[in-house]
Amino acid sequence: QSAMIEQIKEVINEKNVELLHLQFVDIEGILKHITVTSAQLEDVVEGKMMFDGSSIKGFSPINKSDLYLQPDLATFSVLPWTIEDGYSEARFLCSVKNPDGTWFEGDTRNVLKKTVERAGDKGYTISVGPELEFFLFKTDENGYPTQELSDKAGYFEPSPKDLGERVRLEIYRALKAMGFTIEASHHEVAEGQHEINFKYADALGAADLSTTYKWVVKTIAKKYGLHATFMPKPVFGINGSGMHVNMSFFEGNENAFFDPADELQLSEKAYQFIAGLIENVKSFTAITNPLVNSYKRLVPGYEAPCYIAWSASNRSALIRIPAKKGMATRVELRCPDPSANPYLTFAVIASAGLDGIEQGLAVPLPINEDIFHMTEDRRGELGIESLPGSLAAALTALEDGEIGRNTLGNHVYDEFVSLKKAEWDSYRTAVHTWEIENYQAKF
Ligand code: GLU
Ligand code: MG
Ligand code: MG
Repeated sequence: QSAMIEQIKEVINEKNVELLHLQFVDIEGILKHITVTSAQLEDVVEGKMMFDGSSIKGFSPINKSDLYLQPDLATFSVLPWTIEDGYSEARFLCSVKNPDGTWFEGDTRNVLKKTVERAGDKGYTISVGPELEFFLFKTDENGYPTQELSDKAGYFEPSPKDLGERVRLEIYRALKAMGFTIEASHHEVAEGQHEINFKYADALGAADLSTTYKWVVKTIAKKYGLHATFMPKPVFGINGSGMHVNMSFFEGNENAFFDPADELQLSEKAYQFIAGLIENVKSFTAITNPLVNSYKRLVPGYEAPCYIAWSASNRSALIRIPAKKGMATRVELRCPDPSANPYLTFAVIASAGLDGIEQGLAVPLPINEDIFHMTEDRRGELGIESLPGSLAAALTALEDGEIGRNTLGNHVYDEFVSLKKAEWDSYRTAVHTWEIENYQAKF
């Protein structure tokens, strides 16, 4: 601890860090921060910085609003785009504490820590590799996003068709300077759509990286007059953006999902983990796909899943087993989208998998046919169910199941459900352009 603080002080001196941003997320995973000066470092690391929790979505009631920020020292980083005239700014990601020093149960970062502990008690560390896709839109003269995509390129297309190459390069440099290990970057299938992949990490680290990634992508895009969005389906008729979650459990240095003797080189635990996901996925879709708009992505034909099945290769399946084995053996869940809170998302996925292992659940047969083009009868024969078709259906399934409340805890669960019910209600009662276009003239 004190060695780390010394290192941080050195960087602050060397890089002339003037300001420290103390960051945390609200219940939706939206990044917030309060800025202090680097002269306050001592108080900051001791968790003495207080804020008003009643103004943060899903946090505390007005009568118990004082909360404290405890920075995670490992998340300290200088912000590369702030370096100017020999000065710079830095940030910490923080967990939230109550005035009595206990962890605040409304902080989703604390929720994930509980799941990490639950896995730890069973001897597992959770390893997570998320893949977050995003769109770049042009902005208007006031800097607001327009509906116009930034380019017309497609999958893996290089410049000059890909107009995002320069932005991606700068995002890469910024992320690298902040300690990310970047593995690949490319133009995605849809016009204006991109993906930059970073190396897997432990569950908490991966959620921190995802949160930081979204912020950095938006910040750098803005420098180029572009708006980056992680909205799951911004344009009708083309692919949406996913946040595939690759997960495996390690026991010490061994990947607990790998078994060279098995046909697919998967261990019994890996199969039970998959079974746990299949068993619980309907109940946790509201968390991994939390927006009204999320369900417009989960339709056949756009590489996003809508049926509950697994396969070793099939990209139309909900769960895929990537070809890489050995230490890299993992299970890829393809339904989550990047509008989800990564802390809650990794927590529910891991806890569904843990349930599968603890209960010794049996996995259904893999489906290697193209499920998008299967008839309903054939799906029925194979016992393939569908993901919830709307936020309303997902909320019903969340409330019918137990995984949500068990994983999120009462505070976050209750706040989440009431927030999302209000969101659905607002959408349900609004009159949309589609209705005007289809009904006004006709009736
Ligand atoms: N964009 C697709 C989705 O909505 C995923 C494409 C891919 O396989 O990378 O999930
Ligand atoms: Mg992709
Ligand atoms: Mg993927």
